[in-house]
Amino acid sequence: MNSEVVASSVKQDGPQSLSTPVQVETVPKVNLLGMSRPQLEAFFETLGEKKFRAGQVMKWIHQFFVTDFAEMSNISGKLREKLEQVCEIKAPEVVHRNYSKDGTRKWVFRVGEGAGSLVETVLIPAEHKTGLSRTLCISSQVGCALDCSFCSTGKQGFQRDLTPDEIIGQLWVANHSYMEDVPVAERERSVTNVVMMGMGEPLLNYDAVLSSMYIMLDDFAYGMSKRRVTLSTSGVVPKIDQLGKDIDVALAISLHAPNDALRNELVPINKKYPLEQLIAACQRYIAKNGNESSRRHVTIEYVMLDGVNDHPEHAQQMIKLLKNLPSKINLIPFNPFPHAPYERSSRNRIISFQKTLSDAGFVCTIRQTRGDDIDAACGQLVGQVADRTRRAEQWKKKVEEGNVILRSQG
Ligand code: SF4
Repeated sequence: MNSEVVASSVKQDGPQSLSTPVQVETVPKVNLLGMSRPQLEAFFETLGEKKFRAGQVMKWIHQFFVTDFAEMSNISGKLREKLEQVCEIKAPEVVHRNYSKDGTRKWVFRVGEGAGSLVETVLIPAEHKTGLSRTLCISSQVGCALDCSFCSTGKQGFQRDLTPDEIIGQLWVANHSYMEDVPVAERERSVTNVVMMGMGEPLLNYDAVLSSMYIMLDDFAYGMSKRRVTLSTSGVVPKIDQLGKDIDVALAISLHAPNDALRNELVPINKKYPLEQLIAACQRYIAKNGNESSRRHVTIEYVMLDGVNDHPEHAQQMIKLLKNLPSKINLIPFNPFPHAPYERSSRNRIISFQKTLSDAGFVCTIRQTRGDDIDAACGQLVGQVADRTRRAEQWKKKVEEGNVILRSQG
């Protein structure tokens, strides 16, 4: 742990000799990486400094990716020294990184001790008519408590919430990976889009996620367009309403089933907040500021599970369910993980599902599977690295004992 010795209290019973061990108190440095502008302003005021220093330092951290206060050339030497003593700029530790041939990049971060303290971040590039996009899928929790039946993260159980510096640190590292050898003055942010869709349910780590998204949108930091920051939730209804009040970002829903019976099974939080409540919350979210481009529609994520949720009748149910909700539908071919009780729907089945929805007037896309050579596809976050917790073991045992019932057709 990086901590600075700021005081020493020497405990001694007799005269100090060279051989007497000196005990020192260490005070952890304050990590500035995850502080929003209001927090940084308050911090500088506690140091007896002017608030505008916050904006200056934010730019150095999030636009020039500088971690050494000595490089912050528009800040006085005296203040730089003070900052050096009491703060740090520290991203989470990268323990594994892998860059795929198709441009996909993946990082595994250690955010604590033990095998379960790992989170993963994936960056997926895509060519569009308007240019290249780089979308970063960010994690918000270590593991997840919600236990969706098709999700490898859910099988790892919940460890803890990530802190704002651990969340924004994923964006910082991804950007920094494109500019390690670039001189400070020429550095540019490379990540164009963020989706809060990695490990964890972001709305169950609300304050840290909100604070991180403020930093993403802040012109003194990443200055991202609100259309390009998407929060994806499995449906924590009260927090969707709260989000609508607190920030303007795009919303995605991990739907995965068009009726309550099936969704209760695939996405268990549906038992608490069934579809009727969820759809109503989405309608309120986009009604709040319907002219804003980030809120003209909700993105519906739908993982395609062979023989489970991919039947023509499911497509018809989707049409009915979403008829009053401006939405774009993204069909996700399932990526099997070890001991997964499902298989990916056939290509024909996915295309036919898409056609039914498109014919009904929905914009419906099929997500390209990317980064398969580095195990970076969605739904596999950290599955390979940290699938060792109790729930994973229990799950494996259940599968081995044949106690997992695979859904039959419909
Ligand atoms: S799909 Fe999302 S909410 Fe469900 S278990 Fe996985 S990480 Fe958690």
